[in-house]
Amino acid sequence: MQIVSSIAAMQRLAKKWRRAGTRTGFVPTMGYLHAGHLSLVKCARQAVGKNGRLVVSIYVNPTQFASTEDLSKYPRDLKCDLKLLQSLNVDAVFTPSDTEMYPGETGSRRCESADEPRFEKRGYSTYVVEEKLSRTMEGASRPGHFRGVTTIVAKLFNIVLPDVAVFGQKDFQQAAVVTRMVRDLNFPVKIIVAPTLREADGLAMSSRNKYLIGDLRRQATVLWRAIQMAQAAVKSSKSISAAKLKKDLKRMIEGAPDAKLDYVEFFEPETLSPIANVARGSQMALAVRIGKTRLIDNVRL
Ligand code: AMP
Repeated sequence: MQIVSSIAAMQRLAKKWRRAGTRTGFVPTMGYLHAGHLSLVKCARQAVGKNGRLVVSIYVNPTQFASTEDLSKYPRDLKCDLKLLQSLNVDAVFTPSDTEMYPGETGSRRCESADEPRFEKRGYSTYVVEEKLSRTMEGASRPGHFRGVTTIVAKLFNIVLPDVAVFGQKDFQQAAVVTRMVRDLNFPVKIIVAPTLREADGLAMSSRNKYLIGDLRRQATVLWRAIQMAQAAVKSSKSISAAKLKKDLKRMIEGAPDAKLDYVEFFEPETLSPIANVARGSQMALAVRIGKTRLIDNVRL
């Protein structure tokens, strides 16, 4: 397994594989890997076959974090990540530094609008923006977040040159935004969206679960319990008012002492358009703060 930290070296390797006619599968991550990430790697291997090449990137992308968020505290354990990836026969791990990805000095420019991310580099000024699917939910709660995501994914695609890239359904809106970017900007990449892996009690696996100490871990099951409550509501009646369901869910979620609902939304899975009446096939997504940790989850009802 090669560990590559320079863009030039990664592009050289990717071009060599392409010239040899080998298919490349790619899984972008921010590291601190868990079984959910590993399931994406296995899915990518299946997609490219045993003769294909697999690249996993580990990069905590600063442009998708706002200044108030947990960028500096984001958990990292590169040694453990590399061990896990080695065991899955990954061909290359791309682990660039911030100065490699966003060259230039860090500026301390004051942000004029809420849309501007707080991380700015004087030598870097090109961003990719999806303007429809990224406006609601995570986009509304985390201004600038998807601009950072689409920019880094576009850059990574140009560096890794994958035929196939695998994203998790766990970040449903992210997968939708990336799929739209690939379609709109004609990236020659097939996007696969793989299912969410959960702990035994239903909590979606996430690198941020590490922050859930003591009773917070138990309280974090409110996201899964909210999903189950919505599933039961949809089962018991053909169509149910989204407004009423949201109200009931908020009450249930905030019954946990350290839980604060950020949003719960019901929407069309393809367009992400909000729906007034929830029924079987509607998509549900929610974001909840458990203490200081913000967790997200979603399901197709
Ligand atoms: P992250 O490291 O959080 O940026 O996640 C990297 C990729 O792993 C994204 O495509 C996520 O959607 C995906 N992912 C995160 N958690 C899970 C999970 N529990 N099950 C499946 N995929 C996941």
